[in-house]
Order: sequence, then structure tokens, then C-alpha cells
Amino acid sequence: MSLNSAHFLQRSRFEPEQFKTQQQYKLRNGTEVHIVAPGIIAFEPIQPVSPKSILLSSGVHGNETAPIEICEQLVENLLNEKIVTKHRVMFIFGNLPAMNIGERFVDENLNRLFNDSTAIDNQEQRRAQEIKSAVKDFFESDISNPSTFDESSRLHYDLHTAIRESKNEKFAVYPFLHGESYNKAQLQFLSACAVNTILLSQSPTSTFSYYTSKNYKAHGFTVELGKVKAFGENDMSKFTDVVKMLEELITEINLDLPLYENCPLDVYDVKQVIDKHSNEFTLCFADNIPNFTGFPKGTLLATDGTHEYRAKVDGEAIVFPNANVALGQRAILTVVPCEI
Ligand SMILES: [Zn+2]
Repeated sequence: MSLNSAHFLQRSRFEPEQFKTQQQYKLRNGTEVHIVAPGIIAFEPIQPVSPKSILLSSGVHGNETAPIEICEQLVENLLNEKIVTKHRVMFIFGNLPAMNIGERFVDENLNRLFNDSTAIDNQEQRRAQEIKSAVKDFFESDISNPSTFDESSRLHYDLHTAIRESKNEKFAVYPFLHGESYNKAQLQFLSACAVNTILLSQSPTSTFSYYTSKNYKAHGFTVELGKVKAFGENDMSKFTDVVKMLEELITEINLDLPLYENCPLDVYDVKQVIDKHSNEFTLCFADNIPNFTGFPKGTLLATDGTHEYRAKVDGEAIVFPNANVALGQRAILTVVPCEI
């Protein structure tokens, strides 16, 4: 039986009850479609020719619209059979109620809930459990064919846009690998997506990409594609490279990537992770300062009551400053250039 799941995202947002129970059907081209939950849909090629399992998530923050629009288009093109996937691919549209009110979240930041907690006290906590369960089923069922299974072929790109302007508009956070080596082919792929700035996280976090990296050995990344805009207000010409590469990732067996030596990558180590501990937390620089702005050693970056946070080295740059986070959450990251 073929169900009509066109406008999958719109229907997930405004008529989620339609997708409360799991649905599975085949497209005319043989692709298996699996609707797992509202905003969660997977495609299984008729004969998987590669062991790649690709997870593309967007809208974990509801107002970060460009990645949502990019993934929505890919899903529609797959459903309409304009493109055909050669790999297992799952799309997760994270925070549907937050999208509907044009906000980052409703009760709580969903991208801080990917940990061992099983709490379901608000809608983001419930959604985090639903997403974790879908991801487990998706990544663990790739073992069903042991002859092609290869842990290194699990991929996860969690697509975001940033709150403020950035000197390096597109960048990716490489989650803490606990000493495992960085994968250069992944950086080549990101570079082909015009994502040439890489932040190497140095500690465990509760983000979605750290969760898949740690628990499923996926090559997971938080990818920031530019500045937050409302639905329909994105200049899609700014996303040409990433749209092209994501489509190729799904529809091609092998990718034609630039040589690592030719990728204009800027790699940074995370230097300080500064959490907000009191309501007196204040940033000591202009509100409109772009991400990746560097400061001389000793510059006062933030105060929290009587505590002062200063740049520890020359050129230490700020990323993701946000004084409005909840107490105990990260208010600012600082980074310094490095080589890998
Ligand atoms: Zn985000």
C-alpha cells in the first residue's frame, strides 16, 4: 500500500497525529519508506550497494530554518522519485513545536538533552527520547547484513544555523573523540560543502552529534551553515555547495572530493568552555561582535558575579556567546588555531 507522505514536514508540523504510528511502504522505484514518527523518516534502497548509513538532522533548534528547508527538499525529491538514494538515509526534523512558534525551543534546549537521562517532563525531553530510540533502531539495524557492515560508514550531520554573524560563516564542531583519530575524508567532505572551519571539541557534551559519535561510532558533526533567518527568508544561493554535496552523498556511491592538501581548512581547538553560574553573568564585548573574533591575551571576556574570565593566549577567539542561556549551561566557548 502506498501512503501519500508528500509534504511530510508540513504534515508532521501541523497534523502530527497522522504519523503517530509507524508506517512503511515502497515507492514505485523500490525504495522502502519508513515513517518512524512525526518529523522522522527513513529511506532504504532496494538493494543497498554500500554499507553507508546516513543520518541528516535539522531543526533541533526550531528557528534555524535554512537546514530544515534543505532537508525538506531532499525528502520531497526522494518521495517524488526525482532522486533515488543509494544508501540507507534517515532524516530527523528535531523540534517541530518550536518551528511552529519560530523559536529555538519551547521549554528547553533540545541539543543539551542527548545524554543518559530518561526524563520526559517536557516536550523537548520527550522528543529527545523519541529521537534517541529512532537513531538506535536506524544505526543498529545496519548490522543486519554483516558482510557489508562497517562501523566507519555511519554518518551524522546535525545541521544548524548560528544566532550571530560569524567571520567564518560556515563551521563544524567535531565532537570529542576520546583519543580516536580525526577522519580526514570527513573534513574533505565538509570542505566540499564550503564548511572550512572546524572546531575540535575537547570534552564530552550532551549534543546530538556527540551522542551519535560516542554511542554509535558515527562520524558525527554539528554543522553551522550561517545566520538564523525566518522560513522563506533564506538566501538559498549561500547554500549551493552543501545542497549539492548532500544530494551527491545520498545518490552517489563514491564522492569526488578535493585532496586534503587542497582544502582551505582552518582548524581550532576549544580552549575554554565558560558556563553561566549566576544571573549576573555578563559578556564584556559588543553584542554584535561576530563569531571567531580574536582577542589579545588578558582581555576580559566575561564576568559572573566576582569571577572574571579572560583570554588565556593571544588570538583566543570567541564562539557562540549567549548570556541568555539557563544557569549551568554554556554561555561562551573560546578557541585557538591548531593543526591536526
Ligand atoms: Zn542550533
